[in-house]
Amino acid sequence: MRQIFNDNIVQDIKEKIQSAGLKATPQRIAIYDIMLNMGHVSADMVIERLRQSYPSLTRATVYNVLESFEKSGLIVKRYSPSNKMFFDINTYDHVHLYDKQESTYRDYSDISLIELVRDYLKDKHIPGFDVEKVEVQLIGRSVAVAE
Ligand SMILES: [Zn+2]
Repeated sequence: MRQIFNDNIVQDIKEKIQSAGLKATPQRIAIYDIMLNMGHVSADMVIERLRQSYPSLTRATVYNVLESFEKSGLIVKRYSPSNKMFFDINTYDHVHLYDKQESTYRDYSDISLIELVRDYLKDKHIPGFDVEKVEVQLIGRSVAVAE
């Protein structure tokens, strides 16, 4: 394997993975590193990024690694407007800004907005549906900000 990481970063990632109760395999380290760099990834994006260093890596393997991260609380699973599954390194509550032109996500911290929706739904009964989780995603496009 090509040495692509800075040793300190590798050590930090190893500790993070191990503290979640998982074995720090080279694949897990590589995938967590991608998560750190990209924030939000789909299994396909990970494969694309790792094609050079791990040509034999299958979608199933990547998916299993991401699932193991999710089960141990290292990352969270989310769904895009097109219903594609993606994984998020930020496990705290935040709003997503989805840029439909770029197909990218940006995190936006607005806990009041999430709480507003949660409070609204708390005593509300939606016939035939149990709400387990509330996620807020705003869809639009990125625009230049005046300096
Ligand atoms: Zn996010």
